[in-house]
Amino acid sequence: MPRITHFEIHDVRFPTSLTGDGSDAMNVDCDYSSAYVSLFTDSNLVGHGMTFTIGRGNDIVCQAIKQVANRIVNKEIESLFADMGKAWDHLVADPQLRWIGPEKGVIHIATGAVDNALWDLYARARQKTLWKLLVDMSPEELVKSATFRYITDVITPDEALAILKAKEATKKEREAIVRSQGYPAYVTSAGWIGYSDEKIARLTKEAIHAGFNHFKMKVGAELADDLRRGRLIRSIIDDPQWQRDLPPDDPESARRLPDGPALAGKNAGPTGAVLMIDANQVWDVQQAMDYVSSLAEIKPWFIEEPTAPDDILGHAAIRRALKPLGIGVATGEHAHNRMVFKQLFQADAIDVCQIDSCRLAGVSEVLSVLFMATKFGVPVCPHAGGVGLCEYVIHLSLIDYIAVSGTMERNVLEYVDHLHEHFLYPCSINERGRYNVPNNPVEGYSIEMYQSSIAKYEWPNGSYWALGKGRCRIL
Ligand SMILES: [Mg+2]
Repeated sequence: MPRITHFEIHDVRFPTSLTGDGSDAMNVDCDYSSAYVSLFTDSNLVGHGMTFTIGRGNDIVCQAIKQVANRIVNKEIESLFADMGKAWDHLVADPQLRWIGPEKGVIHIATGAVDNALWDLYARARQKTLWKLLVDMSPEELVKSATFRYITDVITPDEALAILKAKEATKKEREAIVRSQGYPAYVTSAGWIGYSDEKIARLTKEAIHAGFNHFKMKVGAELADDLRRGRLIRSIIDDPQWQRDLPPDDPESARRLPDGPALAGKNAGPTGAVLMIDANQVWDVQQAMDYVSSLAEIKPWFIEEPTAPDDILGHAAIRRALKPLGIGVATGEHAHNRMVFKQLFQADAIDVCQIDSCRLAGVSEVLSVLFMATKFGVPVCPHAGGVGLCEYVIHLSLIDYIAVSGTMERNVLEYVDHLHEHFLYPCSINERGRYNVPNNPVEGYSIEMYQSSIAKYEWPNGSYWALGKGRCRIL
């Protein structure tokens, strides 16, 4: 029976700071990076996984991945696959490593890379895409694949089982629908804070042409600047002249009625366009209330990450304050484990749950959050602003739609249009601005990176960095 024999880790950094891609009020100088791990076996199976950082410190995560991955070397892969929830528990249960968490920070995102690699290995072993592996599982198997430690006060395995069983009979119908229509997406690429107005206008028009109707803009550096950029984006997305005509029988047409069920409560404009804003944690609680109130005229659906990601009650207070303005609160890309999400739900702190595929410790912990979000009726709109994250999250949203929540009506999955060329199986968007369903049985969790990209961008000795390009930004 195959065993995991060894692993390789790569510190891969892309020089995105040179163009302002990924820039926001908090993160002004990002070099999108991947702490990348490959698990090898004594068969020809290899599993790949990663977690995302924005540059310096990626080497520290790689060191932590080494510690975590060591825990599954020499393990038989089928015994790990037989109980992925138990395998996850084993990854987080090192009696000494636990002290430098527990279940948060560097050690937890490193665990995410390893758990994701293990799930990729499992999917490849069954010759299925990751999402297909999970939606084809019985409700019992899916529950067993998650972790319930510390969350049974809000959801028990039996409750999760009931949620899954209620969706079981109609899974095939939903799979067929999403295969033909794609999964709804939104675009962030037009609204990075470091872009000029001219570039924002051009990218917004391009995004409309590509089929998107949900757009996100970064805010929080300077109010007058945010108002100007917000008015600019709204002036374009609300203007019928830039819209593409959709046939009346197109399923997307119904989703774009400003008061229809897909858009109700989202402050959609007359063309069915929705604007979201993201502050990346820059404000104190009262500042967030005041600043976002001042942006009410640009009619955002939600403010994302208004304050510190650990401040659950702060998020709840901001949500209460903004409710009369019809503005919601979203967070989650920095929510470091399922317990934070549990409390965000318990405190009625969020309108939208933004899981991150590798800040949570991999697929098993993501499943736990999907179960809770369904119980609380909060839509899951995963975070994907980073390298590799779009490739990952389409799988998670498909699992949510087909097997867990059973709906994608109000959900939108983040899409950013860069760095996909480094992956063997990049995600793609259809003509309606929706994610296509990954469908190649050899792609697993879709995160395998080209060896040539690793050779070029590995820090510090890859050919790009060794030549000295951009080195001054990193050192
Ligand atoms: Mg964000």
